[in-house]
Amino acid sequence: MLKVKNLDVFYGSLWAVKSFTFHVNLGEIVSIIGANGAGKTSTLRAISRILVRSRGEISFENERIDNKPAHVVVTLGISHVPEGRNLFANLSVRDNLILGGYIFLKERYFRKIIEERLNLVFDFFPMLKERKDQLAGTLSGGEQQMLAIGRALMSRPRLLLLDEPSMGLAPVIVRDIFKIITDLRKELDLTILLVEQNAKKALEVADRGYVL
Ligand code: ATP
Repeated sequence: MLKVKNLDVFYGSLWAVKSFTFHVNLGEIVSIIGANGAGKTSTLRAISRILVRSRGEISFENERIDNKPAHVVVTLGISHVPEGRNLFANLSVRDNLILGGYIFLKERYFRKIIEERLNLVFDFFPMLKERKDQLAGTLSGGEQQMLAIGRALMSRPRLLLLDEPSMGLAPVIVRDIFKIITDLRKELDLTILLVEQNAKKALEVADRGYVL
């Protein structure tokens, strides 16, 4: 489903990722683990094209995406849940979710599509439904992570990029988040590329892993 060949990522003169080659098969959960600064986040950002300067081949479902802008990559079926969640703290849960569906804005049935997607996210995360009018910034850390994943689901992805979903969460909540990751595959047929510092948990849920 995803093929990355000889990926290099640069920040100015800093060579952050060097010649990284890996792949993700349809239906897999693949984890990338590595120390602080190893280049895990940079790899995900190169795939979703949020970044910057990268070199190498990235193909998704046999189509080259390394020259496409981020807003096109998301329409092809890749959603990125960023490190640190990047929610809109002063917007409600519902409005954060709707923003995740912005790619459908020009569709004739925009409202209908958004309602359908909202219902899917609320079915998967009933907690978000209960809190749909609450400001995102007032959610707990674990709830914010669920919202960030929910927002990513709004654009109908087939491949989900998850960047350190367990970061800063209490152990009992970390367990919930990893359960959610396996449920995303089981219930929503998603393929998942996971970046984690929690190597033990990340390899427990994964079919394969890469050490960077
Ligand atoms: P962590 O687990 O700590 O999040 P990581 O494996 O995700 O680390 P990256 O965030 O990809 O690593 O960073 C890789 C390298 O690139 C680091 O040396 C980092 O300092 C550098 N880097 C990342 N973002 C930038 C940036 N915007 N400008 C300059 N250097 C950057």
